[in-house]
Amino acid sequence: MAEFASLEGKTALVTGGSRGIGAAIARELSRAGASVVVGYRAGAEEAEALAKEIGGRAIAADVSTAEDAERLVNEAGDLDILVNNAGLTRDGLLARMSDDDWHTVIETNLSSVFYTCRAVTRPMMKKRAGVIVNVSSIVGIHGNWGQTNYAASKAGIIGFTKSLARELGSRNVRANVVAPGYIATRLTDVLPDEVRTAMLEQTPLARLGEPDDVAGAVRFLCSDAASFITGEVVLVDGGMGM
Ligand code: NDP
Repeated sequence: MAEFASLEGKTALVTGGSRGIGAAIARELSRAGASVVVGYRAGAEEAEALAKEIGGRAIAADVSTAEDAERLVNEAGDLDILVNNAGLTRDGLLARMSDDDWHTVIETNLSSVFYTCRAVTRPMMKKRAGVIVNVSSIVGIHGNWGQTNYAASKAGIIGFTKSLARELGSRNVRANVVAPGYIATRLTDVLPDEVRTAMLEQTPLARLGEPDDVAGAVRFLCSDAASFITGEVVLVDGGMGM
């Protein structure tokens, strides 16, 4: 009997795959049988080591620029699966937020999704098959103090993906969003203890998530087990955002 949520024979690109949630997604898709391309910007050593571990390829590209994002998609080859996970934060109160902090976050988190999705759209439509999963955040749904730029980028991903799901559905291309809560990675390492404690108090499962918690949901959405799911936002947040 075929394994549940198998991705045997599929080729996947995971952006921001050098560490954290992206690395966990790359490993999980590989475990599911996919051949995985790991996109990264600066973490060459980590990305190359991961690619070697999972028998995939690592490609350097700054997805905040159209040129690099398109090159990444083209070099990745004939894609069945695209996971847009690359992202960053530049937190600060709006009153003091610089133009650079705004643009860096919007371009890295949101424009990157536009560039890569645009690049895969034609080939996937032509094949009448393909799956896109974009990584948003609970902050894109509920907002967060000091994160107007990040929340805007992550909310933008949700509207973008729902629109894409409507455009591509008739060609059998699905597009969904995974919105993690607080997951233990380098991105959240910097949070002060009191913020962490407050978050745990609001989380019914009473723990921070692990990158693997997100990876499992992504694998499911990429697989035929989710073949009638598109335009959906799956919260992976221990119940925090319900
Ligand atoms: P990390 O900071 O651990 O990893 C971020 C990844 O994104 C790295 O691989 C980094 O590559 C890559 N990246 C950043 N900028 C670029 C760029 N311009 N071009 C290409 N790659 C880039 O973060 P997480 O693993 O925690 O986060 C992954 C995703 O999950 C992000 O989109 C984040 O917003 C989202 N998320 C995370 C949550 C959390 O609690 N951790 C909660 C909700 C959402 P490199 O190192 O090579 O620069």
